[in-house]
Amino acid sequence: MKYYSLNHKAPKTTFKEAVIKGLAPDKGLYFPETITPLPASFFKNIDNLSDTEIAFQALHQFVSPDIPEAVLKTIIKETLSFDFPIVKLNESISTLELFHGPTMAFKDVGARFMARCLGYFNKNNTNQVTVLVATSGDTGGAVANGFLGVKGVNVVILYPSGKVSDIQEKQLTTLGQNIKALEVDGVFDDCQDMVKRAFLDQDLTSKMQLTSANSINVARWLPQLLYFIFAYKQLHKTHNEIVFSVPSGNFGNVCAGMMAQQLGLPIKHFIAANNQNNVVTNYLKTEEYSPQPSVQTISNAMDVGNPSNFIRIQEIYKNNFSKLKANLSSFSFTDTETKIALKEIYDTYNYVADPHGAVGYLGCKAYLKAHTNVHCVFLETAHPTKFLDVVEKVIKIEQPLPKQIKGVMNKTKEATKIGSYEELKSFLLH
Ligand SMILES: *Cc1c(COP(=O)(O)O)cnc(C)c1O
Repeated sequence: MKYYSLNHKAPKTTFKEAVIKGLAPDKGLYFPETITPLPASFFKNIDNLSDTEIAFQALHQFVSPDIPEAVLKTIIKETLSFDFPIVKLNESISTLELFHGPTMAFKDVGARFMARCLGYFNKNNTNQVTVLVATSGDTGGAVANGFLGVKGVNVVILYPSGKVSDIQEKQLTTLGQNIKALEVDGVFDDCQDMVKRAFLDQDLTSKMQLTSANSINVARWLPQLLYFIFAYKQLHKTHNEIVFSVPSGNFGNVCAGMMAQQLGLPIKHFIAANNQNNVVTNYLKTEEYSPQPSVQTISNAMDVGNPSNFIRIQEIYKNNFSKLKANLSSFSFTDTETKIALKEIYDTYNYVADPHGAVGYLGCKAYLKAHTNVHCVFLETAHPTKFLDVVEKVIKIEQPLPKQIKGVMNKTKEATKIGSYEELKSFLLH
């Protein structure tokens, strides 16, 4: 598979180079040159396929020939070492739980897959890579955990001091080995700006190979298409028309769902559920795309004012607004609505959601008002205890800590404080 840059000013490249570089030299996102639908027999026989067999068939074309089949099988087996269960709330709404991985956020799958690809490309120590990532919370933990101990890959995570939850901070700062945490005196945007500046700093990039580990990287983005196939497998016998409501921030997850649809997965419609960061909701209303500075909400992993993967969605629909609109709806919700939804989900279905999942649930409800006879699946993208403050205040029941979270809580934090780009640069070079 070859990948091209969506800025169209860089040469096509291989999967390997796309993963190592992250972004194309013209700063465009990479996109696969072809998407070959899976054979009809794949969907017919899906009940007889395990998650790892599904993953192999669905991902093979995107990584071939850079990752040999046997290696891909191993990478998939190690990546998918937990479950992706559907929990039915009622006849019209289910949730797909994507939080059973080691850091209890859906980003675990992409981070683990990408780490193992980079580890394979570096097997002879020829491609030393530094993964540089800014996090507002969840990405950092998933990346730190996914890349821990991968040979030849150093990970540097920037997070805003005092702006991530205790659990999230522990997940980023207690692992040691090849994982370094930088505690930035500032907000998330400051971390993000420093990372962007590093990628553009030719003095720095001439001395080291830097790459990103957010969803702009194809190896982190593409494996997410599996979630939609796993959900289909669990629901297709009882429901013909499946709609997905995806709590969206950078739009990597919903865009991966659209890739699954391109592979032939029968998905009726997508809903991008947004908090008050509603650029895409507004775009679908007005056909005008106007990025905004991000605003802080209780579903903070979706506080994104200029979603980086939206350009990939535009590519899938060849910039055809009416085609996109026929396949994607978007709704945006306030924090107050999100809290009411959390309580409603608990009171009505005895289910504890997290704030991101609650936004997804609201997306389902909004869509179902005008569409009957469909089954809406909202993605539960994080475990509720990762947002303990909000969840316990709203449902007024103490939540037991899962073992993944307990495991990090009494470990010792190790982080280096920085306050400027110069400090980041000297940290990277020493
Ligand atoms: C990252 C994240 C999202 C948003 O996913 P995108 O792919 O960026 O749209 C939603 N929920 C949680 C919990 C996340 O960590």
